[in-house]
Amino acid sequence: MSLSVLELSAALKVRALELGFDACGIAPPTGLPELAFFNEWLSRGYAGEMSFLAKSADLRADARGALPSARSVIVLATLYNTERPYSIEEADPSRAQVARYAWGDDYHRVLMRRMDALVGWMHAVYPASFEAAPYVDTGPVQERVFAQHGGIGWIGKNCCVINQELGSFIFLSEIICSLPLTFDSPSLDQCGTCTLCIEACPTQALVAPGVLDARRCISYLTIEQQGAIPDDLAAGVGPRVYGCDVCQEVCPYNAVSPRSTDQAWLPRAVWDRRSVHDLVQMPDAELRAALVDSAMTRARKAGLRRNFQQAATQASKAQGPG
Ligand code: SF4
Ligand code: SF4
Repeated sequence: MSLSVLELSAALKVRALELGFDACGIAPPTGLPELAFFNEWLSRGYAGEMSFLAKSADLRADARGALPSARSVIVLATLYNTERPYSIEEADPSRAQVARYAWGDDYHRVLMRRMDALVGWMHAVYPASFEAAPYVDTGPVQERVFAQHGGIGWIGKNCCVINQELGSFIFLSEIICSLPLTFDSPSLDQCGTCTLCIEACPTQALVAPGVLDARRCISYLTIEQQGAIPDDLAAGVGPRVYGCDVCQEVCPYNAVSPRSTDQAWLPRAVWDRRSVHDLVQMPDAELRAALVDSAMTRARKAGLRRNFQQAATQASKAQGPG
């Protein structure tokens, strides 16, 4: 089989679904107005200690920063919303909460394998030479902007990409490609007058619709920030020991989204409603074992230990004396 570029644009979407992705769209590599907002966001200081974002800002403004020959961006979405209760349904403040994207297997590895398979298939059906660079969260790629322009979903007021059918608990990954594939139409904003995510954020990190002050966001505080969690935010962080799902859990689009049955995205037993006091006592060897092939290594062991202790302190406060 040998396809034209036009045929390949349609056929790769079918192949992506066969390989386990849940949606696939194609975006232009450059000229997207939202890419410029990133510099403004940085200049407001909202990135906190994430200096790596500023260093790669110029590259992020254009997919050609990641692949100079880029002429299209294939955007892939993978549902990870498994049939497990949301953290906002948990009444016990001594149960540790882990963001659901992180509590299972390392999505980088799983998605990279699937993208490699898709690129291999593209080379098989389109034998002429071309370049294709897969990214999962790793390179200087503003993936949400490409997802919106590739028709995967709009960027909601909670700053997540929301697909009308799948909701927002989706992993995004991209293949930047030198072929002039056919672009999809951008997704339109469907948040309307809803403000549930802004109102629900425990640390008031959503300072305006679609504008996140990362320095206040529990994901940043529990994963990226070095040192202690600021006193004025600690109560809001509460039992969350790695990331936060609140602004997604309250989103009406997730209430009606399908659930993934992929075993890779189910919580490991060690992170599944575990007592925060148990986590504080967890021996190093058990913690090391829990982090093998996990997406939770970014916080490092010292960061996790800090989070366990902070969650235990907050749980003790919530339960009161005695
Ligand atoms: S992830 Fe949590 S802390 Fe961050 S904006 Fe959403 S609700 Fe707020
Ligand atoms: S909760 Fe409402 S405002 Fe927030 S992202 Fe969802 S639909 Fe948009």
